[in-house]
Amino acid sequence: MRIAFLGLGAIGTPMAVHLAKAHELTVWNRTGARATAFAAAHPSTVATTPREAVAGAEVVITCLPTSADVEGLLDGSDGMLAGMGKGTLFLDCTSGDPETTRKIGARLASLGIAFADAPVSGGTNGAEAGTLTVMVGGSDAIFQRARPVLECFGRRVEHMGPLGAGHAMKAVNNALLAVNLFAVGEGLTALVKSGISAQKAVEVLNASSGRSFVSEYLVPERVLTRLFPVTFRLALLDKDARIGAEFLEEQGVAGPILHLTSELLGQARAALGEEADYLAPIQLIEREAGVELQG
Ligand code: NDP
Repeated sequence: MRIAFLGLGAIGTPMAVHLAKAHELTVWNRTGARATAFAAAHPSTVATTPREAVAGAEVVITCLPTSADVEGLLDGSDGMLAGMGKGTLFLDCTSGDPETTRKIGARLASLGIAFADAPVSGGTNGAEAGTLTVMVGGSDAIFQRARPVLECFGRRVEHMGPLGAGHAMKAVNNALLAVNLFAVGEGLTALVKSGISAQKAVEVLNASSGRSFVSEYLVPERVLTRLFPVTFRLALLDKDARIGAEFLEEQGVAGPILHLTSELLGQARAALGEEADYLAPIQLIEREAGVELQG
């Protein structure tokens, strides 16, 4: 199948690697050097514009920071709409927002282009292993067409509901990840400050009822080791938590926890910058307390 992939970032790249193994792939990236490097390592063709990338593609996949970025690639003489034909299947793997996605979907539907939101979870490790969870929003017929393509990098591909439902699911998931990140950081920092070893506190937590993905995987692998790799930008988690808080508002759910978490992420992003990793807020908590969660 001819597939176009736009957005070779931290997660987009390993997703595209799987597609290159099974399909005829064309890649486009805003910074062209990344696309050239990709094509040098994986069977694929480089396109110099979004229009060129999608021309002749049966399936188009985007993986950009925000829905606004996806919208920004549609128009103009080099835009995707100038190249996409009727009947194209367009899957947006961006962790985007439901409202912009529905707006894009309405435009595409009038042009005969099938569109679904298909954000992913599982991190860059999951993308490399091809074990991502994919949360799809769109019609049943579009989901059935999308599924085999998404299974190239997804182990669990779920139809969540109509267009935008995938983004809503993803935003709430990531908002919950963020809540936990701050909560685990705060709790462990206090325990270490009181004199308990970080290693022991994490081990006991993980054998008890307060354990979570953050305490079982992220803290042992990235915090206790002091490795703090950059795999997912804090700025993107901040964006996700905002979308999650807005979604709660739309649904009439007060959500004080998710709103506070979104506020804390905004503050951390302002303090740490656009390139900081999402675990860096734990370092802020440590610094404020004057201790380190060292294993
Ligand atoms: P990165 O910041 O690593 O990469 C972003 C990509 O989008 C780059 O290819 C960048 O191009 C491109 N880009 C940025 N702005 C624009 C624009 N205005 N127009 C065109 N291209 C643009 O992000 P990730 O790959 O980490 O994330 C992509 C999406 O996936 C986000 O929505 C994120 O929330 C989500 N996600 C990320 C995960 C992770 O672990 N990293 C996990 C799950 C979901 P350039 O090379 O020129 O900068």
